[in-house]
Parts: sequence; C-alpha cells; structure tokens
Amino acid sequence: AETWDVVPLAPPDSIFKLTAAYQADTFPQKINLGVGAYRDDDSKPWVLPVVKKASYILLSDPTLNHEYLPITGLPEFVSAAARLILGHDSPAIADDRVVSVQTISGTGANHLGALFLSRYYPFNGDKVVYLSDPTWVNHFAIFENVGIKQRLYPYYDPKTIGLDFDGFIATLRSAPERSVFLLHACAHNPTGVDPTVEQWKTIAGVFLAKKHYAFFDSAYQGFASGDLDRDATAVRYFVSNGVPLLVCQSFAKNAGLYGERVGALHIIVPNKETAGRVRSQLSVLQRSEISNPPSYGARVVALILKNPELFEEWKADIRTMAGRIIDMRKQLHGVLTKELRTPGNWDHIINQIGMFSFTGVSTTQSKALVEEAHVYMTANGRISMAGLNSKNLRYFAEALDRVVR
Ligand code: PLP
Repeated sequence: AETWDVVPLAPPDSIFKLTAAYQADTFPQKINLGVGAYRDDDSKPWVLPVVKKASYILLSDPTLNHEYLPITGLPEFVSAAARLILGHDSPAIADDRVVSVQTISGTGANHLGALFLSRYYPFNGDKVVYLSDPTWVNHFAIFENVGIKQRLYPYYDPKTIGLDFDGFIATLRSAPERSVFLLHACAHNPTGVDPTVEQWKTIAGVFLAKKHYAFFDSAYQGFASGDLDRDATAVRYFVSNGVPLLVCQSFAKNAGLYGERVGALHIIVPNKETAGRVRSQLSVLQRSEISNPPSYGARVVALILKNPELFEEWKADIRTMAGRIIDMRKQLHGVLTKELRTPGNWDHIINQIGMFSFTGVSTTQSKALVEEAHVYMTANGRISMAGLNSKNLRYFAEALDRVVR
C-alpha cells in the first residue's frame, strides 16, 4: 500500500467550484453572484482610494523595515482596531480589560477565538457552540478543528424570508446556562437578515439571564449600513450591559484588503488582572501557530485609523461601497415589483442588509438560473449584491422573473 492511501478525496469548496464554472463559461451576459467580495459597477475588484494613499505613504517612509511584529501584532493597529469596534468611549477599553490580538483576518480571529475557548472556557458539559441556521459554512470546520461540537439555533425563517426571532429566543432560553452562541455582528452571512435594535436588546437580556457567552463575528462593519458606528451597535450594547463576549474582526471587506489578511480578536474580560493572564495564553497559542502576524495590511489600516484625514476618506469609501449595494437592492426591487410584476413579495430584497441577499428561490430555481441563464449563485438561493451593477441588473431581474413564474 502507498503511504497516502488512507487520504480520501475531499469535495471542492462550493464557492470556488462555482467561480471556476463561471470563468469557464463563454456566454457574454454571464453573471457571478456567488463571490463574497465587493465589485464596482464594471464588475471589477475595487482598491479603496484611501488604501492606495496609505500604501504610498508607507512605501515612502525610509524607516520602514520588514522586522517581525510582536506575537500579538502591531500595537497601534490592535488598539485602534479595538476602538473602532468597541467605540472610543468604551468602558471596557477605559478599564484596560480588552485583550486584543492581531489575527489572520476574520477567519484567523474565529480560529484563535475558538481555540482559546476550547482550551479555557468553562463549558457546561460538552464543548458546544450554537451557530445560526444557516451560517457562514466555514464556521462548522473552524469549530470542528478545535474539538468544539456545533448545534444550530433557529435564525432564518423561509416562510417570511426574515428572522425567526421567537425560535431564536426560545433556543437561547432552553440552552444550558453558560452556553456559547455565535452571533453575526451585522450583515448576517448568508441571509442578509439582522435583528432590529429592539430585538438585539431582548437577545442581550436573555444572554445575561442565562449567563451565555457571545462569540461575535464582525466581518462587515460599515458594509451593512455604510456607517461604522451603526454597524457596531449590537456589539457595543452587549459590552455596555456586561454580557461576556469576544469579537472577531475582519478588515477584508470594509477596507477591501481581502488577500492581505488583516484582522483582530478582542476578548472582553472582567478586569485588568484577568486581561494579563488571558493575553499571556493567547500569545502562547499564537506563537505555536503563526509566530507573529503579517505586517503590511496592519500598517495600512493603522495609518487609516489613526490619521483623522485618512479616516474621513475611508468612511467616504465605505459609503461608496455600501451605497452602491443599497442602490442595487432598490433597483432590483423596483424592476421586479413595478416593471416585471414578478409573482410573490420581494420586500426582503430591500429589508435585508450587507453583501448578501437570500432571495427565497428554491434549489431547483437556483439551478435553473445557473444552467439556463448563466447566472452563477449558490444552491441555497443566496446572491451577492456586489455582483450586480447597472449593466447586468435588468438581465438578472428578467432571468429571476422567468424561473419563479
Ligand atoms: N465571518 C464571516 C461571517 C464571513 O462572511 C467572512 C468572510 O466571508 C469571514 C468571517 C472571514 O473572512 P476573512 O477571513 O477574509 O476576513
């Protein structure tokens, strides 16, 4: 027998498979609605002007070198990143009880957070995390890798194409005390369905009553509403009310730094003394996995966050991206409801938020869109709004109209 005979062939990643099929397609009007990255009105990746500017500033700095960063990352990046998500006036930051570590983007933050919990969280019985049904598919593998079992909590309601709030609350109430629940901070992936502020307050109340732990995944701050502070509302509300939590933060989408892998893990703990111990163990874990994080993207983001002029420019760039996506939602909704009079209710298209939209179309209909209309989307009916633009929106709306009739 050969050494690697025992290695089974894994199925290809569904998104990467979809992209490959799209690239191989020669149909001129093909559309890629699978990709989880921002595209401009010409379907091109967009380098944020503020990122270009910050890069030039960095490259012309004669003191810049390629030395290793500290194990927990670039200090000015992690502290500015913590203020961005938790707020400048965060009581937790003022009390020195936020442990922040630079990570390999949001995925790395999820991994390090999960690894830390698997080592040190006082689980009530089995190591379990509750994930929203549905969630970003990678969450399953990330927790599986560190020996934490996954359970689903009701989240998306296909009947309303909205939030199953009652089901969510019922599971929060019935779960054992001190359970860990993963929450999408904003712009839920894949549904685009977020709780309202009032609903977040109720959710936080149950977390407190049941002493649950909130594992926040924040991959889209600014991308949802166009406003960085507004998209951090849930996280800040939980912190100010004393819910125990951590936050995984990614700069992939809101700074367009996908491949540079810029992110951070922030763990909010009860006091400064605990912060010291937690930080020491995170350093041990980080050292064995990546030694220290990459510097370039963190430098770019630190510069943007610390320079008031660049920060204002970044906010404008974010509004450009979020604004275009919100505009595509409005236009798609308008064409479906007013022009084509497509059967069914399409209000969810404008009520959902962020990069993704759950259209509510069935697996068979999604398949028909791919195979007959050359519109590439995942089988669950999710579309990336960023794949739509002024040139292809009409074609997509007509194709969607055809498959649902
Ligand atoms: N979490 C969610 C919910 C996501 O959608 C993503 C990206 O698609 C990530 C985390 C992590 O992305 P990255 O590792 O590129 O920051």
